Parts: sequence; C-alpha cells; structure tokens
Amino acid sequence: MKRWERPARPLPLRARPMAEETVVSFVARLAAANDFPATLLLRTIGDCTPGKHVLHRDAYLNDPAQDRLGILARTPVAQLRKALPTLSCTPRYVALPHQHPYLRFFRGSPYPVLACRNCTLRHSPATAVGWEYRDRDRCVCLTHNRWISSAPQFNLAAAPEIATAQADYDELVVRYGRDKASAALFQAWNMTTRWGTEQRHPALLDRWHTRGAAIGATGPGKAAVRFPEMVQLAQVLTDPDWRRHIAMVELHHLDNFYRYTARVLGADREGFITDRGRVDPLCAWAQDLRTRHAGARLGFWADLQKNRYRYGSVPRSFPESCHFE
Ligand SMILES: [Zn+2]
Repeated sequence: MKRWERPARPLPLRARPMAEETVVSFVARLAAANDFPATLLLRTIGDCTPGKHVLHRDAYLNDPAQDRLGILARTPVAQLRKALPTLSCTPRYVALPHQHPYLRFFRGSPYPVLACRNCTLRHSPATAVGWEYRDRDRCVCLTHNRWISSAPQFNLAAAPEIATAQADYDELVVRYGRDKASAALFQAWNMTTRWGTEQRHPALLDRWHTRGAAIGATGPGKAAVRFPEMVQLAQVLTDPDWRRHIAMVELHHLDNFYRYTARVLGADREGFITDRGRVDPLCAWAQDLRTRHAGARLGFWADLQKNRYRYGSVPRSFPESCHFE
C-alpha cells in the first residue's frame, strides 16, 4: 500500500502558512517542524514522485490531496487556500485526476523566491527557509529591516538608508504605477552595476564600500549597497518634467540634467563622461530618449526659428510632459 493510500492523521506539530507561499515550501516547513523528510510528506499527501529538485518548485494538488494536507497540517483547507495561492488557481489546461489524491509539480511562475528568514522563522521555528511569490522589486522586508532580494540576506540596522529607499520606491510605485517604476528601477540597477564594474564615480564607489562593510556585504557588486542610489536614480528617470527637458532642449542645456542628477546622487557632474570609449550609461539613456523624440524636438525648434520675427506670433512652449514616455 502506498503512503497516500493510508488514512491521513494529523501531525503532532503545526507550521503556519505564510502569505503568497508556495505549497511545496509550506509542506517542507511542516515536515521540518515534525522532523520528517519533506519528500516523504509529499508522498503521504498524494500520488507523486518528488526528489530534492522539487523543493524550489511548486505543486498543484487536486481536492483529495488538499483535504489530506489540511488534516496532516491540522489547518482548515480554506485557511490554507487564503495563504497559498496555488491551491486555488489550478489552470484549466492542467488536468489532475479526480479519483485519488494527486500532486503535480511545476516550476512556479513567476519563479518563487526566498522569503525573509525572520518572517519564515516567525511562522515556524524549525527552519529559516521558505519560498514565496513576490514582486521582484520588493527588496527589503520593512518589518525586520532585512535585505531579502538576494542570498545571503543582510541585516540593515547599520545602513537604515537602504530600508528608507524601499519606502521611497513604494511611493514611486503609487505615483507612477508598478510597470513604470519597475522599468526605471531595472534601468537604474543596470546603470549602477556598470558604474561599479567600470569604476566610475569615485564618491559613489567609496560610499558603497563603506556601506557594504557596515552590513557585512562584500564590495559594490552587491545590489543592497547600491540600492539607495538606484532608487534615487529611478526617481529621476521617471520624472516627467526631466524627461521632457532631456527630449526637447538644445544639446548645451542637457548639462542641467547631469548637474541635477549628480547633486541628487552626491556624485561629481564630471563623472558623466565618455571614458576609454565607453559612454556613461546615464548619458546613453538620455541620448536614447532624445533620439526617440528627435522629430518633436527638431520640429519645435524649426517652428520657433520660422516665427521668430513674424508680427503677432505667440511663443510656443514645450508639449505636455506626459508625452515623453
Ligand atoms: Zn521579515
């Protein structure tokens, strides 16, 4: 007789499910709480062939398997469904058998990521490892003041500006929407990575080294140490007035933008230079924006020139700032 064919009995110890956690992660934590191999518990829940490779994945469970999980975990299925999104969203194209308890593993979409270790321990002290679905731009657990976007996670007590940056980023999301904010953060992430690898902006590199030492990260390569400047840069990149300025002004006025950005970041304006044939990534970004709006810019300045001496002509202003996506 297979394990899933035997009657399900409640396990001695419970693990509380975490919001947006994968089913496999919850089962693994429940197994750890009861000092039980996770793969064996998965086979007890339903028909499946788990290996260690499935522990980073997720699983669809049919109704009989969900009922068994509820009994084993001593937690009502409705409560599990509230926390574990996969239990209530099996896609129509995934055909699970109805007759017997059954699990089907899948990769997870978007990929599950490691949850904050302190949040995980709070839900069950047996293990600090939990996997959850989370927006990629949720980099800091504001409850526990920890960097959670990469492993190892860092305690941020010695660099509070990193948690402040997460709160500032959340405001950016509220203001411009997640798509725009996330795209700007991605660009800022890449720009600051290049500043680190190309050894640009010495003031920033020094700051990142100092911050890295404070939180136990090694060097400016770690995203955590660059995060405050990333968010500051993302704020500049999304600002519609600056985008219009970059797209529309004549070339010699572009310097205002570099001076402003340098001041915001606490860097030297002179750092935005072409170095050994490599264009600074911020300058490349500005140039790309200008290229995309070259038609509007050239038309505006040509019209202005044409009407300069015409009697009664009204000076035109730049188009509304929302036009420079
Ligand atoms: Zn936490």
